[in-house]
Amino acid sequence: MAVRHARPAAPPAAPGTAEADFHTHTTRSDGVLEPEELARQARAAGVRILGVADHDNLAGYRELTAAGAGPLPDGLRLVPAVEINSVAARFAAGLPEGELHMLGIGVDPDDEAFEAALADQRGARRIRFFKMVDRLRDLGLAVDAQVAMLDLSADDALGRPTVARALVAAGHALDVEDAFARLIGHGCPGYVPRGGLDPIAAIRAIRDTGGLASLAHFPEAPDREPLLRELMDAGLSGLETHHRSFDAPTRSAMSATARRLGLVETGGSDYHGDHGPYADTHAALVMPDWLVDGVMARLGGGPGPGQTVAGRP
Ligand SMILES: [Zn+2]
Ligand SMILES: [Zn+2]
Repeated sequence: MAVRHARPAAPPAAPGTAEADFHTHTTRSDGVLEPEELARQARAAGVRILGVADHDNLAGYRELTAAGAGPLPDGLRLVPAVEINSVAARFAAGLPEGELHMLGIGVDPDDEAFEAALADQRGARRIRFFKMVDRLRDLGLAVDAQVAMLDLSADDALGRPTVARALVAAGHALDVEDAFARLIGHGCPGYVPRGGLDPIAAIRAIRDTGGLASLAHFPEAPDREPLLRELMDAGLSGLETHHRSFDAPTRSAMSATARRLGLVETGGSDYHGDHGPYADTHAALVMPDWLVDGVMARLGGGPGPGQTVAGRP
């Protein structure tokens, strides 16, 4: 399997070393870059294996790989992925926002049953989005004018970052972090709980379509082994030990937990685009080669139906 490559002749746009990123977002969910632009920026930063993991949505991956689409950046392999923000009421004690985020890495983009499940998730997202807009209006924090400027015709996965950016544009928040901290984060006045799949159902849906189900950005994992074991019983087989936000001690504690439980380690930038170009985020991403090899081995290595695409001729 051709995972290891020589460095490109041109230096990366930033001094990041990661050659893979299994967790990124585009405008097909709540990211700010078009899929094509994300692919371009990621490759320019030195990435060779890119997981486009939009929330509840494989549209970005499909567009990039569709017949008739422009060529992928030279040397870039795409991995079809999704992130399902599952409602974890039953496990809620101590969970941030009562949610667990499940990455499905290497899912089958042509699986109609899986697509139907994702469409239901997107429907729940849209309902929540407009409930939040309504609530913010009631609070005197109207974002209707900003939302009216969005193209909501597509079946994209609307998310709270979209609301947060509208709040910033309307002058109700200083930046996205401020919007979450004061207005739309869990426990804030504009917060509306999510609907949709629970973690067990999300894991099963990912498993059923051949994906690697990996629990995303959950630094509490070392203290929550019974929870992890219950999720493993449903088919969880990965743990995102190298999320871009984790410091070295967190990464090593997460890795130790993954090894103890026999979970495949995954990692990624979780890039949305709110902090500037991809290269800036990539510079803070740590992705050891053994981790990349482990994920790719789990996905079957080379390009195959529903797993990876090595690039179109
Ligand atoms: Zn997430
Ligand atoms: Zn994410």
